[in-house]
Amino acid sequence: MWDDDYTGREMPAQQFSINPKTHSYHNNRIIFNIMKNTKQIQLSEHFSLREMTASGTAMQLNIDNTPDEAQTECLRNLCQQVLEPLRKRFGVIRVTSGFRSKRLNNAVGGVICSQHLLGEAADLHISNREVGRKMYDYIRNNLDFDQLLFEHRMANGCIWLHVSYTKRHPNRHDARPVYL
Ligand SMILES: [Zn+2]
Repeated sequence: MWDDDYTGREMPAQQFSINPKTHSYHNNRIIFNIMKNTKQIQLSEHFSLREMTASGTAMQLNIDNTPDEAQTECLRNLCQQVLEPLRKRFGVIRVTSGFRSKRLNNAVGGVICSQHLLGEAADLHISNREVGRKMYDYIRNNLDFDQLLFEHRMANGCIWLHVSYTKRHPNRHDARPVYL
């Protein structure tokens, strides 16, 4: 839950798709790995792997924050099931922290079992409490999600939404405010 990592950056989404008619499975794998390493993979209509792995801390400390295929798939599910519907309703959503490698999670002080490690969670920037509350209510009432935390860091007044989605078990729909 101590898991925000505000980069303040929004990377441009890059479009890329693999045409199954022109590429064999083997070639697709090779292309997937190349694209993954350069993070030029589109996870859903408006969210890219680059955006879901971007981290100022990782850049600063030279930490590799590349997810494996399973983690990438989890990010894709999160984008498709939660972030896209949220974007449709509220407009552009800024992800401040998505996937975190173990090293990055340690560096930002994330909890050991953080769903960010699996690619199942994202922290979302909210411009003010009212908008945050509307997004919180919208997710809680309309979407399938595992955990939804309206996080408040008391020391500096920072607020953000942490939302996760999983396929490891039925999503718990655990929504609550958290005061750090
Ligand atoms: Zn989080």
